[in-house]
Amino acid sequence: MQSMFACGCTSEEYVTRRLWLKARPPEECPYCSLKGLECSLVLHGYYDRVHPKGARVRRYRCTRTGRTVSMLADCLASHSCGDVDTMERIAKQREEKSSFGKIAAGVARRLYRPEQPIEGPLRWVKRRVSAVGGFLAAVVSLRPEELGGVEPTVTALRAHLGSERVLVELRHLAGAQLAGLDPPLGLRPRPLNAVLVPGGRFHKARGYRGPPGVRDAPD
Ligand SMILES: [Zn+2]
Repeated sequence: MQSMFACGCTSEEYVTRRLWLKARPPEECPYCSLKGLECSLVLHGYYDRVHPKGARVRRYRCTRTGRTVSMLADCLASHSCGDVDTMERIAKQREEKSSFGKIAAGVARRLYRPEQPIEGPLRWVKRRVSAVGGFLAAVVSLRPEELGGVEPTVTALRAHLGSERVLVELRHLAGAQLAGLDPPLGLRPRPLNAVLVPGGRFHKARGYRGPPGVRDAPD
């Protein structure tokens, strides 16, 4: 399970400042609190992400159930490579009538190897533009008091919220309901079979790396 870590920075800053070391566990264990049980969450290492390179995600483990909670930074996509600011940028470009091909060429330069055919980046862009649209519509409907009547577009929500980071803002606004929204912006857990197929965990460069210990100590 994932929980949101409000790091309040870009993915580049997250990496250069090693902000996963600042992540703290949720106030309540997501596995036990709904059942009214008490437990403690203990450090359980981290996993490395494929992108942004060098990023790690801190994990905690519920001592009652043995299950883990990953503290995903608010700037990082869930169950998917890439970052949230990139998603917002490409959705905005699309709203401004840039072609998918042009947006994909820009993404390919940043995220893909030079020999990669454009079809991959093109699918990547289309999926994310669609995901942003679905996420904006979902949060606008979940938060009528704050967002009622606002068109669910990056452009309109930027104007309404006075922010250039609408997706991050909406992730926080959604709060606990983020766990019911689809990745890569929501934190809904993937179905079990989705993580068993080859490549299903490609956002993770490596899995669990030994017992928690010295490597988890803050700087
Ligand atoms: Zn627990």
